[in-house]
Amino acid sequence: MTDIFPSYSRMEQCVFLWFHNCPCGGELKLVERTSSSYKGKRLDKIRSRCAQCGEDVIFVFDCAYNPDHEPEPGHINPPETTSVIVDPLQWLHGAAHFLHLTDDEGPAISSKARAALVLNALGCVREALKFIPQDGQEIPRAALRGKLSRAFARQNPDSLKRVSLERMRDRLSALAASLGAVDSTSWWELWEKTQHSAGQAEKPDESESGGCS
Ligand SMILES: [Zn+2]
Repeated sequence: MTDIFPSYSRMEQCVFLWFHNCPCGGELKLVERTSSSYKGKRLDKIRSRCAQCGEDVIFVFDCAYNPDHEPEPGHINPPETTSVIVDPLQWLHGAAHFLHLTDDEGPAISSKARAALVLNALGCVREALKFIPQDGQEIPRAALRGKLSRAFARQNPDSLKRVSLERMRDRLSALAASLGAVDSTSWWELWEKTQHSAGQAEKPDESESGGCS
């Protein structure tokens, strides 16, 4: 029986995949994404493949989102939701991952793609901020579900602080504005491009699939 994970957006599913390895420890790469309806629910299925042993690993998501409604630029999940499947430090690492793709040493990408990646990083930081209670000053440790997240927080306690996260958010917001970023909706299209130009992606077999690993 496959576990079914609650999900609020497709991008969240991709970030989720970055933090899951094959049982053998190998890294998972997205192969295919499909959607279906079951008892009035929308289910997204991601088939991924282990880069080490070649086994397929499948994840099924119960999607509490309207697939026709794209999030606002610079946002990932709907504003009133807090992610269940990606913990706050995983979101921050997701932000770092997006920013890494904009590095000059990275694959050549257009300025529009660069701007969209910055917006996605901004969306990740906003997701992490949602974990801080309204009157709180930092992410509660109980929100850190991943073992690596807990270890990282022990070594970098400032990473949990509201003031650090808000500073990060404001910087990314200013950077996005300076790049003229207005559109993050085609993110996996450009993601796919960056993967291809890095020469490491498999060709997706479905139009809806994208390289998000
Ligand atoms: Zn494996």
